[in-house]
Amino acid sequence: MKITAIETYLMQVGGPGEAKSTASAGHYEGGNFGGSRNWLFVRILTDEGIHGVGECSGWPRVIETAVKDLTPLLIGEDPAHIDRLWHKLLASMMGHGMLGTVGGGALTGIEMALWDIKGKALGQPVWNLLGGKFRDRVRVYGHAHDTNKADRLLALGYTGIKVGFTGTVDLDLVASIRDHIGRKVDLMVDAHGPSWMTTQDAIAVGRELESLDLLFYEDPVAPEDLDALARVRDAVNVPLAAGERVSTIWGIQPYIERGLVDVIQPDTGRAGGITQMRKMAAMAEGHYITLAPHSGSLGPVAEFAALHVMATIPNALMLERLEFDWEGRDDVITPTLKVVDGHMKVPDAPGLGVDIVIEEILKYPSRRNVREISPDDGTAYALGTAHEVPYFQTRFERRQKLRIHR
Ligand SMILES: [Mg+2]
Repeated sequence: MKITAIETYLMQVGGPGEAKSTASAGHYEGGNFGGSRNWLFVRILTDEGIHGVGECSGWPRVIETAVKDLTPLLIGEDPAHIDRLWHKLLASMMGHGMLGTVGGGALTGIEMALWDIKGKALGQPVWNLLGGKFRDRVRVYGHAHDTNKADRLLALGYTGIKVGFTGTVDLDLVASIRDHIGRKVDLMVDAHGPSWMTTQDAIAVGRELESLDLLFYEDPVAPEDLDALARVRDAVNVPLAAGERVSTIWGIQPYIERGLVDVIQPDTGRAGGITQMRKMAAMAEGHYITLAPHSGSLGPVAEFAALHVMATIPNALMLERLEFDWEGRDDVITPTLKVVDGHMKVPDAPGLGVDIVIEEILKYPSRRNVREISPDDGTAYALGTAHEVPYFQTRFERRQKLRIHR
């Protein structure tokens, strides 16, 4: 078998005319992340009529160019040799510096599609090529920003709920949701790697969270600042989670080897691919660390890949999911996934068990892939200063943004 072509399918998420949505973490209904949300799918074609699909997250509009740039290296290759082809692509990108989310995303979508081809060629689901299953279904968690949303998740059987901080740390909200859902449902807090919190702030918040029996406290400090994460680690008695923005085993390595977290959160669309996810899981397993893959702006094909990975590793904690997502999500793939009893079933069809619906994707041409920041944004920035937008700007306003002491 030989690879004959690689096609890319880029789409704007959230539908036409919604570029100015103010949707933020926790408000995912129809959410397009301020017009920034794109999905990029790849389709690898072969001379035997089998094709594979994959998905790249990170910076999809830019990754599409990266995939096109890498394509000549794959034309004529036998898609069976997934690891060798992955390393061939990796080596070809060395001269461009660190992989980042662009290189990671490109490697991921291509590698995912190669696994899909292998599974289809052998008539086996990907999980069966990875060593078989620990489980037939994968536990998922959702996001809530109020008790009403929490109730909607509980009605679907969710047993894990995450509260996100975006610009404001509202411990009263976390406490109210904990009171509402009780102690039998797992509760998590995501601080979104806030350059807007000092390390001392992150520690103070973490200490307040100690009494709320969290499953984990995610990205308490900016992900670039591993020494700060180590300080939080030493000072706070709450399990920590991080890693959604890194790719490959080398990106996740310090989190694991320095013992900085209890849970790693590689993103199935940009971590480097299915094999990289499994290697990360194995590194984590050696340190009794679990894996809870990031979802974020991720689309529906990568979710299938995540289920195959989560089925086959011993330390799968649970999978993040944007429940109540944009209604077009289920139109661009077939079949679709549903949460039943707080879990998603691991697909059994050959390959990943999913295909893209090209005519639907083409209805939503990509327009933009970075978030619009309104000059009068008073949520993430101090009123009237959003035009300045330095990465750590809101540290200047942290007394207003942080409500730590209840
Ligand atoms: Mg996160």
